[in-house]
Amino acid sequence: FAPWEDPDAKPLIQFKNVTKKFGDFTAIDDLTIDIYQREFFALLGPSGCGKTTLMRMLAGFENPTRGQILLGGQDIVAVPPNKRPVNMMFQSYALFPHLSVWDNIAFGLRRDKLDQDKIEERVAEMLRLTRLEQFAKRKPHQISGGQRQRVALARSLAKAPKLLLLDEPLGALDKKLRNETQFELMDIQEKTGTTFVIVTHDQEEAMTVASRVAVMDHGKMIQVDTPAGIYEAPNSVYVADFIGDVNIVEGNATVQGDRVHISFAEGADPIITAFDQPISDGQRVSYAIRPEKISVDREPLADRANHVRGKIEDIGYLGDVSTYHVRLPSGGLISALMTNSRRLARRDFTWDDEVWLSWTDTAGVLLTK
Ligand code: ATP
Repeated sequence: FAPWEDPDAKPLIQFKNVTKKFGDFTAIDDLTIDIYQREFFALLGPSGCGKTTLMRMLAGFENPTRGQILLGGQDIVAVPPNKRPVNMMFQSYALFPHLSVWDNIAFGLRRDKLDQDKIEERVAEMLRLTRLEQFAKRKPHQISGGQRQRVALARSLAKAPKLLLLDEPLGALDKKLRNETQFELMDIQEKTGTTFVIVTHDQEEAMTVASRVAVMDHGKMIQVDTPAGIYEAPNSVYVADFIGDVNIVEGNATVQGDRVHISFAEGADPIITAFDQPISDGQRVSYAIRPEKISVDREPLADRANHVRGKIEDIGYLGDVSTYHVRLPSGGLISALMTNSRRLARRDFTWDDEVWLSWTDTAGVLLTK
């Protein structure tokens, strides 16, 4: 049972109808959300959607205009930042350049006037957790970017906060190191059991590390779900389009038993799809299908409900996979993605090849908003 599916689980953090205005401008709009202990929770959305504002309210740097923010059931709006069991790790890391790794990690503990042996014990534990033991005496400029990131993490976790806020924590790292560090971050989060809330522009990163992802738009929470839930079952065109690559087709619906037929172009067969919400005949709907759900072949695949003929306009070879842009007779362009392997060499297509696209009636999602 994941905590968000457990009716008896108590959320660690609750936003209850929180609105935040800056003057006349509404940055957060009547937002309600529960975040559970031990979650790795990601906030995703375009620039300006309110992610940072949400984080700053958790940290106590901003207060809501309306609504409540609860931590462990207690309203924390009146609690000042330094009295909250919350820490924030910034993208810049904000390490003290003149202090050693050890002293950087010990900084907050010293400020809290902990006993020396407690401090030593805690710093040693943090160095172990972040695999920095051998760098304890170095200054920040004497270690790599990835190691600096780990120092910042060790320092943020030293006081054992209940909640750690991570603002673009891996933004300064190159792609390869970033990918490695994502797994380290997950590992450390799991070992400490601290709740992490991360803001990142990188949707792949959010999908990799997070237990749940929240997609925001203009201060509103549009969908909150597991990465697979967000990807496989987006609740709107906005979410489908925001996460990963997707083909979106619009058309008129006709209900036929447990399937909906969507006529999307004159002369083309309708798209046939399963559906899980009330649809009325003639209703204008959208249909989203991921490129990797579509097979590109010389012949239509008999075991699929949907077949469309088209002409290859572009092929992008990416090593393990290739993407195909296929132009339909109706003028639309569909993107399909196929894995490359010798076994599939018969799929060695080239530009202008006539092909068939096939997919099942449960591969896509019918959307009404
Ligand atoms: P980014 O991904 O670019 O960091 P974000 O989703 O974190 O964006 P926020 O920083 O939360 O967005 O800002 C949300 C909106 O609120 C923006 O339109 C921003 O201009 C506005 N805003 C944020 N802080 C203030 C402030 N102190 N005064 C006025 N407007 C603000």
